[in-house]
Amino acid sequence: MHRRNFLQNSMIAFGAFTLSKQSILKAMSVEPWKITMLTDDIGIFTERGGTIAFHFSKDGIVIIDAQFPDTAQHLIDELKKRNSQPFHLLINTHHHGDHTSGNIAFKDLLKRVLAHENSLINQKKVAVANKTEDKQLYPTQTFGKVWQEAAGKEKITLNYYGAGHTNGDAIIHFSHANIAHVGDLVFNGRHPFVDRSAGANIQSWMNVLDAAMKKFDKKTIFICGHSGNGFDVKGSKDMLLAFHDYLGNVLKFVGAEIRAGKTKEEILKATEIPGSPEWKGDGIERPLQAAFEELSEKNG
Ligand SMILES: [Zn+2]
Ligand SMILES: [Zn+2]
Repeated sequence: MHRRNFLQNSMIAFGAFTLSKQSILKAMSVEPWKITMLTDDIGIFTERGGTIAFHFSKDGIVIIDAQFPDTAQHLIDELKKRNSQPFHLLINTHHHGDHTSGNIAFKDLLKRVLAHENSLINQKKVAVANKTEDKQLYPTQTFGKVWQEAAGKEKITLNYYGAGHTNGDAIIHFSHANIAHVGDLVFNGRHPFVDRSAGANIQSWMNVLDAAMKKFDKKTIFICGHSGNGFDVKGSKDMLLAFHDYLGNVLKFVGAEIRAGKTKEEILKATEIPGSPEWKGDGIERPLQAAFEELSEKNG
């Protein structure tokens, strides 16, 4: 991996005057994206933005999340090579742009887009505010608590357990394969975005993860939206538990700091969450600030 990166970078540096990065990568046949098959008919696609999952069956291709228009097109082109079935259904785990901007790439390819009812409300609100309504493909169907449908030998279940990363995060489970996409309800080894403008709540987020851990079993494979350096976007229940503990440590740390009389500015200077040192990289101020606001609100 390191060697490949080194070769890639030195070739890019070498060819920088005459060739674009894209054309060099193409010439080396190194694609900017990666597909990993988890079973014969379920795989994940990673490039930029939230992890995409896809499912092949005789009923058509089901896609979970769509990243951005350009990366979604890479996915579409590649899946067309691998499977002759039409696209059947697009599901969004939640409304954030790194999961739904690419919906538009499926505009002429499928008729149904499915998400939690709050995800649709949030997507519209953000698009209206940013004047990007013409770039959206909105959910055509929404659900409140549970949604179920069959696709080939799979039963696909969407569950909503309350506010977490937003107030519209769906967990999508393929029962036959026992694979669940939890979207941004898990940031594996990476500091999370806590979208309080869309109803996120850390305490409730922990309850959502508790419900998910209770619902699924030891053999369930979980797919999450984002991971940090050296961390995977898939894992077992342990991945959920580790992130649950991280969120608990964020609340515990910020709560203790508030009780010790620290200001928000002082709290935001922290470089590590005590108890969760493996969470590294940038963005630590996002959960710290969210926890500060959430706890201040609670204490009036
Ligand atoms: Zn995301
Ligand atoms: Zn998100």
